[in-house]
Amino acid sequence: MKYITKYKSPNYNSRGKSKIKLIIIHYTALRSAKEAITYLCTKERKVSAHYLISQNGLIYNLVNEKFRAWHAGQSFWQDIVDVNSFSIGIELDYNPNAKNNKFSSKMISSLKKLILKLKNKYKINKKNILAHSDIAPFRKKDPGKYFPWKLLENEKIISNFQNITKNDTKIIEDWFYKYNIISKKRIIIFALSLIGYDTRQVYKNLKYYNMLITAYKSRYVTKLTYVNQETVYNNIIKHLFKNLLTKN
Ligand SMILES: [Zn+2]
Repeated sequence: MKYITKYKSPNYNSRGKSKIKLIIIHYTALRSAKEAITYLCTKERKVSAHYLISQNGLIYNLVNEKFRAWHAGQSFWQDIVDVNSFSIGIELDYNPNAKNNKFSSKMISSLKKLILKLKNKYKINKKNILAHSDIAPFRKKDPGKYFPWKLLENEKIISNFQNITKNDTKIIEDWFYKYNIISKKRIIIFALSLIGYDTRQVYKNLKYYNMLITAYKSRYVTKLTYVNQETVYNNIIKHLFKNLLTKN
C-alpha cells in the first residue's frame, strides 16, 4: 500500500508509554482533501490525524504512527479518557453538506486496506474500530449514519452480531435480572457501559441519554428515522453478547 507522505502535520506529541489499541474513524466536514490537508497541517488549528483518505482513495500519512495525533478531543472508551494516546486517527474527505458527500468505493476500499494493515500490525481488536461518535457521543456525529459499516462487517473487519438468537440474549437478560437490573433503560445503560461507551452522566440526564442512543443508532441500528426502544434494546443485548464472546 502506497502512502503520500509529502504533507506533514506539526500537530502531534509523544504517546508516552501508551500502546496503540484503538482505530478512530472521522470525517473532515471540509470541502476537499486539499482543504483538509491545509487544515490538519496548520499549527494554529491544533488538530491532526495520522491518515487522511481522499475521495479517489489516496492515503495521506500526515503524522507518524508512533506519535500522538490530535483527532479525538475530549473522549472516552472503556475507561480510556486520553483516546489520542492509545489510537490511530483516520480522517475521510467527506462533508455531508458539500460535493464530497459520498463515501466513494475507492475511498472505502483504501480505508479497508489501511484498517487491515493497522489491525495486524498492532493486534487491534475488532471491537476497537470505532466511530468518533462512539467515543464522543455528546459532541460528535462523524463518520455519520451513512458511513458503510455493513461493508466492513461483511469482510469481517469489524464484528457482526446479527446471527445472535433470542436464546443467547436470554442468558444476558437473566444475568441482569439476577443483579436486580430490571428496567430496560437501566439494562441499556449498563450494557452500553460494558461495551465501552461513556455512560457516566446519562442515567440522571435524559438529554445525554438520548444523545448516546442517537450515536449508538447511527452506527448500529438502521437508517430509518424512527426506531423504537425495543429494537434498540434487542440490538444492544445482542451486541453485548457478541462482545463477550469475541476475543479479537
Ligand atoms: Zn471526528
